[in-house]
Amino acid sequence: MRRTLIAANWKMNHTVAETNVFFGNFTVSLHTDIELLFCVPFTDLYQTKHILKDTGIKWGAQNVFPAPKGAYTGEISPYMLKEAGCTYVICGHSERRQILKESDEFVAKKVKAVYDNGMIPILCVGETEAERKAGKTKERLQEETQAIFLQFEEPPTKEIVIAYEPIWAIGTGEASSPEKAEEVALYIRELISTEWGKETSQKIRILYGGSIQSNNISSFITQKNIDGCLIGGAGLKPNELHKIYQKASIKEEE
Ligand code: PEP
Repeated sequence: MRRTLIAANWKMNHTVAETNVFFGNFTVSLHTDIELLFCVPFTDLYQTKHILKDTGIKWGAQNVFPAPKGAYTGEISPYMLKEAGCTYVICGHSERRQILKESDEFVAKKVKAVYDNGMIPILCVGETEAERKAGKTKERLQEETQAIFLQFEEPPTKEIVIAYEPIWAIGTGEASSPEKAEEVALYIRELISTEWGKETSQKIRILYGGSIQSNNISSFITQKNIDGCLIGGAGLKPNELHKIYQKASIKEEE
């Protein structure tokens, strides 16, 4: 059975002082089968590690540079993230693809670098509004996943997470329909199955992201191929994230 993952992506929010306030206001009763993850800004990593160590809650990063070290001003290496205790690293969030023009190939190299360094990459994929309207969702997902397949000579034996995040649904309050998200998650699983085999495809967790809140999480998490959610705005609100996690737990107990 695939474990559910509830991942909060803080993006460029929360200073260290604000991180202390957030965790001071955040309570959760952890469920063994549901992972909770905070992907925080680099500057918050060590404070988050200090606060969360021994709690069972995971922390991770939002980006990485795919090289071990060297002359890459302003970048951060997988090893540095590993040392900061990151379990997961988000790769290819649409904001980085769109604003910072990260290519599919560059994102794929990040996924491989995170994987090779013993952390779990969360690969973000998804179509723009224009691509959706032009009926090109599947084509776009195929391009994004194909770039990853090219980086691996063998099917991965360790974990990789894929987050389906339709770009038009991020931060807009307009989530995909759960049925459509399930259809796309199944399609992604089929792409993986074709390339890496059925067994691997059944192990890879696929998340949905885009305007998730406590009032819609249940309808996504109950879909067969959706194994959790990547959460932006709602992950900055302690009470709302608490409610989201609680609702995800109720699904597991059903
Ligand atoms: C995100 O940025 O990954 C995201 C899903 O944001 P939001 O939940 O705010 O739509």
